[in-house]
Amino acid sequence: MKRPSPEPNPHVAAMSAYVPGEQPQGGGWVKLNTNENPYPPSPAAIEALRTAAGDAGSLLRLYPSPDASPLREAAAKAHDFPAGRVVAGNGSDDLLNLLIRAYAGPGRPVGMLDPSYSLYPVLAAAQGAAVIKVPISDDLDFDDARVADCGAAVFFLTNPNAPLGVSFTSARIAALAGRFPGLLVVDEAYAAFSDDDCVSLARDLPNVVVTRTLSKGHALAGLRAGYALCPEEVASVLHRVRDSYNLDRVAQAAAAAALLDDAWLRRTVASVNGTRARMVAALTAIGWRCVPPHGNFILAEPASARRPASSETSAHAFEFLKSRRILVRRFPGHRLTERCLRVSVGTDAEADAFLAAAREWSAEG
Ligand SMILES: *Cc1c(COP(=O)(O)O)cnc(C)c1O
Repeated sequence: MKRPSPEPNPHVAAMSAYVPGEQPQGGGWVKLNTNENPYPPSPAAIEALRTAAGDAGSLLRLYPSPDASPLREAAAKAHDFPAGRVVAGNGSDDLLNLLIRAYAGPGRPVGMLDPSYSLYPVLAAAQGAAVIKVPISDDLDFDDARVADCGAAVFFLTNPNAPLGVSFTSARIAALAGRFPGLLVVDEAYAAFSDDDCVSLARDLPNVVVTRTLSKGHALAGLRAGYALCPEEVASVLHRVRDSYNLDRVAQAAAAAALLDDAWLRRTVASVNGTRARMVAALTAIGWRCVPPHGNFILAEPASARRPASSETSAHAFEFLKSRRILVRRFPGHRLTERCLRVSVGTDAEADAFLAAAREWSAEG
């Protein structure tokens, strides 16, 4: 007789896994569903990863820098931030997890805006922490007092917000940090595409952490590298709970080189933001309302003469685009996103393919 599987912790037995966007493995897709950068990464990063592996991979025998010092030094230089207060992670998801592991748990809830990144509740559940959601209103704003008084030990403020694309000013977040007694984590995954950021708050305030990723702005999602800019005490706490070698040798070197290639970043962000403006104009012209974007994605509400904006219309447009092998993302679980599609900004050719299909849908719709 088969023995039953041993029981995990009760809070783990009760939780569900994060559901990532579809990652089709075959070719032939215009993939605009997970906000990857459409351009190849900095050539300096690729050169650095080859060098880091050594001749015939000889350097891969050796453990990497335990605290990812090449990456931390480069991030410090890029942001004019003390290197000793930069903590590197295996993607910024690793840092979000470490922050929850160190600051949240039973009786120490995690706070977040709703909607925002759906990974936070999964990481909270894994540590047995409750989640407090502060709603974003229909005019895409939130009540500062509700965040300040929500009672969370750690609050995640995704800025620019994903999936909405709105951005909240650093001046406002500074004021909020003064009123909120817990740790305020500003998840700046999309900061490269925005014209404001909270780095100076992490530099000056005792309770603000900024997390960054190399996945979006630097086109290195496949590498898994991110970092947190922290107050001194927080950095020391995160070093205690992280894995001893949480970032591999190749990722450390490539991420460091990418962070130092400022010309590549400026050029690429200018291209993405130019295509983004063109996509918004074209969608608006066919009657798809768009949230003014601040990341490398657009939240748009499909509508046509026959089909007014609704959750069903968004599902219909999604399937139509998919039949043309164009993959976008739907978030049907929230009133602010159910009528919408989230479309990553691609190359100009990808944008044209998407826009042609969107026009075709609107005309037939
Ligand atoms: C993409 C994304 C991340 C994850 O970044 P990784 O470095 O790839 O783990 C974190 N937060 C938000 C809001 C994101 O959209």
